[in-house]
This record gives sequence, structure tokens and C-alpha cells, in this order.
Amino acid sequence: MQYTSTRGDTPPMPFQDAVLTGLAPDGGLLLPETIPDVRGELDSWRGLGFVELAERVMGKFIGDMSTVDLAALLERSYARFDDPAIVPIRDLGSLKIMELFHGPTLAFKDVALQFLGALFEQILTERGLRMNILGATSGDTGSAAIAGVQGRDGIEIFIMFPEGRTSPLQELQMTAVPDANVHCLAIDGSFDDCQAIMKSLFNDLPFKAKHGLGAVNSVNWARVLAQIVYYVQAGLALEHNGVGPAICVPTGNFGNIFAGYVAMKMGAPIDRLILATNDNDILARFFNTGSYQRGAVHFTLSPSMDIQVASNFERFLFLHLNRDSDALRTFMDSFASGEEARLSGGAPLDDRIVATSVDKVTTLRTIAQTYRDTGYIVDPHTAVGVAAARRFESDGPVLCLATAHPAKFPESVDEAIGKPVARHPALEALKGATGRKTSLPADVAAVREFVEQHAL
Ligand SMILES: *Cc1c(COP(=O)(O)O)cnc(C)c1O
Repeated sequence: MQYTSTRGDTPPMPFQDAVLTGLAPDGGLLLPETIPDVRGELDSWRGLGFVELAERVMGKFIGDMSTVDLAALLERSYARFDDPAIVPIRDLGSLKIMELFHGPTLAFKDVALQFLGALFEQILTERGLRMNILGATSGDTGSAAIAGVQGRDGIEIFIMFPEGRTSPLQELQMTAVPDANVHCLAIDGSFDDCQAIMKSLFNDLPFKAKHGLGAVNSVNWARVLAQIVYYVQAGLALEHNGVGPAICVPTGNFGNIFAGYVAMKMGAPIDRLILATNDNDILARFFNTGSYQRGAVHFTLSPSMDIQVASNFERFLFLHLNRDSDALRTFMDSFASGEEARLSGGAPLDDRIVATSVDKVTTLRTIAQTYRDTGYIVDPHTAVGVAAARRFESDGPVLCLATAHPAKFPESVDEAIGKPVARHPALEALKGATGRKTSLPADVAAVREFVEQHAL
């Protein structure tokens, strides 16, 4: 399988190069040249466990890696999950939940980043290369990225976060990791400062080349690939009389739900996707009106979805525009200039994706009500999805993706339920831990110097 860029100016490359490249040199996002149709194979995939299914699904997109390697790689990738099903489905009567939070940092990003870390290590080892990963985080992504590469050969990771602006628990999830290849940089500034430093170092091409600077952000195709697997699995598990489930996805970056869109295009039995946003509703507005325009960022109870520029949205748009890079550029350019971008032909976009946004009050009420009705505790991100799912009629079953364990957001969850219920042993254990971090000024030169001294 070859990969090409949404912007149309990058020569096709095989899977492993696409993984190492991340963002394409022309500024676009990489996508497989074709989306494989798997309808003929679905019957033989029914009942497979997550890792076996991953081998079949990913095999369609990889090509340049032996199947022996892939099976072993997947075993390693999911060894740290604390549930044998990796992504178990809970049946709570009319509410069905797929739990994506059984990885080491208790959020769905582990499903992709545990795989990406193992994959990086394998490709780098084969090629005799090394990589220095540089990232910026406002909380959750940093810990999942660190957990994905901690202790791996050929990889050093540097994660910047705004000092004092992540929760103490979020900070410990990063800084209490003991491995020597992990460097947590507490920056005396905002998350925007961290991102600006990162951008400026990635734009310094000699520096980038000298240190083999790499990113683990959500534009890496391997992250999407890992997520496609649980959509196929959910579709197969819940298909009933030929109708697949509706799958509801709380989203910010369009990363998770884009994988569902690809699974649907592959022919997985998924009736439709329900896109759920918090008050940062740019995507919900787009799917309902055809208009794509940035708004102000709202701080909500589901901080991992407080996003106004959805990086993976470009991939969806490109497929929706029948791979027309010129039309895509026109659309993205008018969006980037701050104008309203609109598709000619207008709304509604795709009748297999419905969308809605959920406010703070409804989020808290949904956590409380779900607990009262079923005894099950949802985190605020998952609650956005559960509330959204209730707004749409459906012929078949509806499955909500649970993207974080409730114990990651104890303030909101305990407040909604009225007693302290949001606990997890892994997080309790962290409470007495000491972290390891380096405090640095919000200054490119200081971060550059630190990376130079500690790079592989
Ligand atoms: C990152 C994240 C999301 C949003 O995922 P996208 O891929 O950005 O749509 C939702 N919930 C949690 C808990 C997350 O960490």
C-alpha cells in the first residue's frame, strides 16, 4: 500500500515511511491511495479478539512488513492493557459502552500510542536510525505519548507542558515515569508558548535533521490505523439482522471519529456515526450547516476536546471531495485566513454522520443520570457522547465510545454524582509519588539547548 498527501505534492511512499514522516512535506496529511473493501472477509473475522483482528485489519494497510513481525508487534503493543478484551463492551441495557481506557494512562489515546511507540522502535531498529520526539501537551496527550515510548530503544522523548497549569495528577502521570529516555520540561508559560517553541524548533530544518526530530501528534497515520480496529470490532459484535450499530464518538480533533469513517468506507457493519462535541462545536456546526469557521476556545469539563482546529478533519474533507487536492487547498486556505469556509453544494454533508454539541450542565446531568439508572460511571468526555446519542433515533443498537476512565476527572465526576466515586488504583498509587522534571523558561533557546544536551 502506498500513501499520498491530501495536498497532492508529495511522491507516494510505503507505510513505514509514512509512519516516520508524520506530516507530509507539502503540509498535507498522508492517506492510503485506496481504502480497502473488506466486506468479503467480515464473516471470517467475526469473534476474533482485538489483537487478531488488528492483524487482519492493519495487514490491509501495511504491505511492507512481514505478518510475523506484525503479530509480535501487536502482542507487545497491547501487553500493558489491564483487560483481556483490550476494548471491552459493557451492555447496560439500552446503553452500550465500549471502554477504550484500559491502557496505561487510562484514556483512549493509549490504543494508538502504545502501538505507535512499538512501531517506531521496530522501524528505527530495522533501519539503524534513532529519533528524538518533541511534543507539547496541555495534559492528556503527553502522558499517553510518554507511556508509548518509555524505555524503548532508539527513542528519546521531550514533552513540554505549562508549569502549574495541568492538574497535579496529570503532571505525575508524566513525571513519575522512571525511564531515562523520558524528559518532562515544565515551561514557565502557557500551552500556547509550549506549542510556539515546538513549532519554531521543527521549523529549524538543520536542527530537525541533525537530531532526527519526530512527532507523535494526531496526524500520524498509524494512530488512525490502530483506531480503525475497534470500530470494525464493534460493528461485528453488535450487528443485528444485517444492521450495524450507530457509534457515538466524543470528538475534538476528528482523530477518533475519522477512524470510524474509514471503517465505514471499508464496509464494516456500522449504520452511522454520531459526532459529539462539547461547547467547542465547530465540527457539529459544520456537519449541520456546511459552514466551517473557527470560534473562540471554550474551557469545558472535557478538556481533551477543547479544540477549535481539528487536525484530522483535513483527511475527511479530502475523501469527501473525492481526493481533489485543489478543492481541498481552496477550502483550507479560506479557513486559515479566518474566513468562513463552505463546500459548494452546501449542507448537510453526509447522511451517515450526524452531529450535535453538548453543554456543561447537560454533561454533569448525564453523568448523574447514567449513574442513577445503571450504576455505571462515565467520565465527562464519555458523558458528552452519551448525551448526544440520546438525541438521535436509531434502527439498531447504539454504542458509545468511552474515551477516559472517570478517575482521570474526579472533580467533575464526584460533583455530578455527589460522592467520591471516581477512583482507580493506578492513580491512587501515583498520589504519593515524586516526579522528575526540568523547569525551563518559555524560551526557544533554552529548550533547544536542553534537547541538544540530552538528544540521542
Ligand atoms: C483526545 C481525547 C478525545 C478527543 O479525541 P479526538 O481524536 O481529538 O477527537 C476525547 N476524549 C479523551 C478522553 C481524549 O483524551
